Amino acid sequence: LYDRDGWLWQDGDWLPWREARTHLLTHTLHYGMGCFEGVRAYRGPDGAQLFRVAEHTRRLLDSAHALDIPLSFDAETLIAAQRQCLTRNGLDNAYLKPTVYLGAEGLGLRAKGLTSHVMIAAWDLGDYISPEAAAIGLRALTSSWARHHVNISLCRAKTNGHYVNSMLALNTAVKAGFDETLMLDPEGYVAEASAANVFLLRDGVLHTPEITSCLQGITRDSVIRLAREVMDMEVQERRITRDELYTADEAFVTGTAAEILPLRELDGRHIGARAGAPRPDQPIDGDSVTARLQGLYRRVTRGELGDDLVAYAGWLLPA
Ligand code: PMP
Repeated sequence: LYDRDGWLWQDGDWLPWREARTHLLTHTLHYGMGCFEGVRAYRGPDGAQLFRVAEHTRRLLDSAHALDIPLSFDAETLIAAQRQCLTRNGLDNAYLKPTVYLGAEGLGLRAKGLTSHVMIAAWDLGDYISPEAAAIGLRALTSSWARHHVNISLCRAKTNGHYVNSMLALNTAVKAGFDETLMLDPEGYVAEASAANVFLLRDGVLHTPEITSCLQGITRDSVIRLAREVMDMEVQERRITRDELYTADEAFVTGTAAEILPLRELDGRHIGARAGAPRPDQPIDGDSVTARLQGLYRRVTRGELGDDLVAYAGWLLPA
């Protein structure tokens, strides 16, 4: 990752990719106190466009504020830097990772006078998830690791340190031969996947966990809006138990990188079997709600806005 051509943005300056250096005593490396975003850009009809970058940037600033990390850059500056990250690096289908971290002026939990920094890296994502993989989706295992509790972490903030918990859960599931993990909140209700939100469909209604223990995903919000406003569906945000996923008609996960991926099997149960869903190793039906949402999301992110989607033009910002 570090040995490549390109430019990184750091505190307002452009650095050649290979020359980026950070001191070993960088505070965030030691305690995980920092925050970040994952943002996507897509090739649209007229070139690269960032998807919902204003919402991602707002969440980054909110995360930093909640963590009490003062920042010297406002949203406008950070959005301009993200656009330039694409143009300078000649990228269109890309992933961007703006990150806020603390400097190396002191170590220990009581360190004073730490400087705060922002960096942005962007790289080509190509065909991150092929259409075939997006139709097959995921087999997941419920984790024995609980997701965060509102009185242990800041669940609204996308904090670096939160991802230790995600990786413990994900690595256990992957080692056991699964693609993904389903994490429950400390009370045992469905929270989210390792880095994606979860939805289920039952009797034509979509359900997704309320945001107590999961990240308030921007893809989650896009899906809720497309389902309600374009597909005229009912969407409920509420507490969900794992057996509701076992017995759902359909289920899927959402995230900036994963977009919308069908959840085909959980803990060995074939999701949607009663509703006649194809076996988990076969592609999902093209007329399923999951496939239709995938299609709408694909069009809205790639700027293929027909009359039905023109209302979402504001989600795209040309680079
Ligand atoms: N939950 C977690 C823990 C995540 O890391 C992500 C990815 N950012 C999501 C959910 C999905 O959020 P978004 O749709 O904003 O990418």
